[in-house]
Amino acid sequence: MSVIRILPEAVANKIAAGEVVERPASVVKELVENSLDAGAGRVEVALEAGGKRLIRIADNGCGMTHDDALLAFERHATSKIRSAEDLFDVSTLGFRGEALPSIAAVSRLELQTRHTSESAGTRVEIAGGRLRDVKEVSWAGGTQVEVRDLFFNTPARRKFLKSESTELGHIATFVTHYALAHPQTCFRLSSFSNEILNAAPVATARERVYQVLGGQVLEQLVELSPVERRFPAAPPAGLEDEGQPEESGLARVTGFVSRPEIQRLNRSQIYFFVNRRLVRDRLILHAITEAYRNILPASVFPVALIFLELPTAEVDVNVHPSKTEVRFRHTGFIHDLVRDSIRQALVAARPVAAFPLPRERRARADLVAVEAAEKLADEPPLIRGPDEGLPRGAEPSRRTPGDAFRLSPPERVPETGKLPLAGEPSGPQGAQGLPPSLSEAALFVYSPTGPAEDAAPMADRSGASEFPNDLLPLGQVQESFIVATNAEGLWLVDQHAAHERVLFERHLRQRRERRVEGQRLLLPIVVELKPGQQVVFQEIAEELAANGFEVEPFGQRTVTVKTAPAEVRSEDVERLLLEILDSVGSEAKKLSLEVLRARIAASVSCHAAIKVNMPLDRAKMDWLLRSLARAEYPMTCPHGRPIVLRYGLKELLKAFKRI
Ligand code: ADP
Ligand code: MG
Repeated sequence: MSVIRILPEAVANKIAAGEVVERPASVVKELVENSLDAGAGRVEVALEAGGKRLIRIADNGCGMTHDDALLAFERHATSKIRSAEDLFDVSTLGFRGEALPSIAAVSRLELQTRHTSESAGTRVEIAGGRLRDVKEVSWAGGTQVEVRDLFFNTPARRKFLKSESTELGHIATFVTHYALAHPQTCFRLSSFSNEILNAAPVATARERVYQVLGGQVLEQLVELSPVERRFPAAPPAGLEDEGQPEESGLARVTGFVSRPEIQRLNRSQIYFFVNRRLVRDRLILHAITEAYRNILPASVFPVALIFLELPTAEVDVNVHPSKTEVRFRHTGFIHDLVRDSIRQALVAARPVAAFPLPRERRARADLVAVEAAEKLADEPPLIRGPDEGLPRGAEPSRRTPGDAFRLSPPERVPETGKLPLAGEPSGPQGAQGLPPSLSEAALFVYSPTGPAEDAAPMADRSGASEFPNDLLPLGQVQESFIVATNAEGLWLVDQHAAHERVLFERHLRQRRERRVEGQRLLLPIVVELKPGQQVVFQEIAEELAANGFEVEPFGQRTVTVKTAPAEVRSEDVERLLLEILDSVGSEAKKLSLEVLRARIAASVSCHAAIKVNMPLDRAKMDWLLRSLARAEYPMTCPHGRPIVLRYGLKELLKAFKRI
């Protein structure tokens, strides 16, 4: 007797539904994608109970004929591909023909539609995968799908759903991001007739960001100047083929990334679109991390909206049932393109942290997006980064996109007595050991290659200011912060961090160009190493030598230092060496040379820099400000603190109630 049997279609559909429909947001995703594929200029999403009771999606797309409206609910019924070859040339968001039957298998669904070629519309009702009713109806055009009581016939799944507000949050995040990726389409989202999002069509992504996330958010982002690169040409098919290689296609990156002072404790604010499809992708996450290397410390993440457009043949979208992953044909090329586009924009932007202003009234859409996101704090997002499940800090992030985009109050500085030394920030530490005012603390940046030669000028810096070279130093606060002015307003410069930045860039530059010359110490310094430090020392001895350290083994577990980088005082040498070894730690083998060099340069410059609590005369302050103005990235130091704060004239006038 045969024990294997073919499952009835209804069961098969339920199984497929398990892959495609995880929660209300997945229904919204599939239906919105269908509307976009139908060429809709308007997509309206209405919800009840976080989508658990009702999801209604209406569009003004091409609609379906009577026959198609029925066929659409068959498994693998699609109008978007015809053959297996087409799978490598998918230009629509859907192509698997699974969404409608899957959704219909686990809900009570009603579809109303009319194709432009037919005079009457069609209404189809399906419940739990069973066709209940088909009718001719009068219908203006486009398509509307109502999905009620999701998972009513799969109680086990229903139990997995979270609270209404959580599910609503997922949907809001999804719709918001699809709206960002499709600025020319009108998007509306409402819940129990409360409008959450209403975005009229606009011409550019920038306008859409403003519309959906608000002006304040836009100010915290740097827009990438569109970067286009041609794919590597495919080699001629055969050697005998002497013809020209086929013209290769273009890849284009646009989007927005956060300024360095915006720091998130996880990757939940990184969104990546391939041909306007929202996907998750390790490769791109890596490229983004690379772009921010030395801009953000390893434990925090930026906010990013990256839109990659490329020929359909360059990307395989048939990798995942919910189509949230893709595979690139030229992975290295895509990786480098994304990394370079972001880095170029960051280097070009070089923004200065402004003094925090009292919180201003936020745009309504901003508020909504923030509220939606707040509900997501401890929920896995619809599209999840590969290792997001493992928060990197002790505490999961409670921050929201809105938080990230708002400036928090300045770090409190003790009112009397000495300031803490550099590297020992005062006050409570964040989960990552970073100061609490992270959102205004930007980190150190350098660009190993410098801005790309062909870097287009930033279209609009939206309020960011360059560090000026006409600052007039007035004096010091606490012999630690230089007070300076120019026509733009009042500036405060952390003298230690500023000098650190100047030395850091100089050291790296010297190292890039040649070996850093060390200075011979009067007496060699003997340093005792712990076993771990000894291992690291052996790993990086050569790089240390190239950075001006002449260090030789001296008996068991001790070394002698004969020369050290010129700016470092001899009494600091031992501590510096140990600090470098510890900062590299067990990562020695994993670190790229570039990162290793940056770590060494950061340690050296920290030890060599002017300290806080140190009086400086006018000439010294002047010299420091000029050197800083020449720095490639004068805004932040290697310890997560800003170098410069600016109190703009407008803020002054506002504060004095003159405007
Ligand atoms: P897929 O999108 O992968 O083709 P679906 O199950 O989502 O599969 O949809 C099946 C078919 O139904 C689509 O190929 C399309 O022809 C049609 N369809 C679905 N939604 C719409 C819509 N909103 N407007 C017009 N046609 C639609
Ligand atoms: Mg579809």
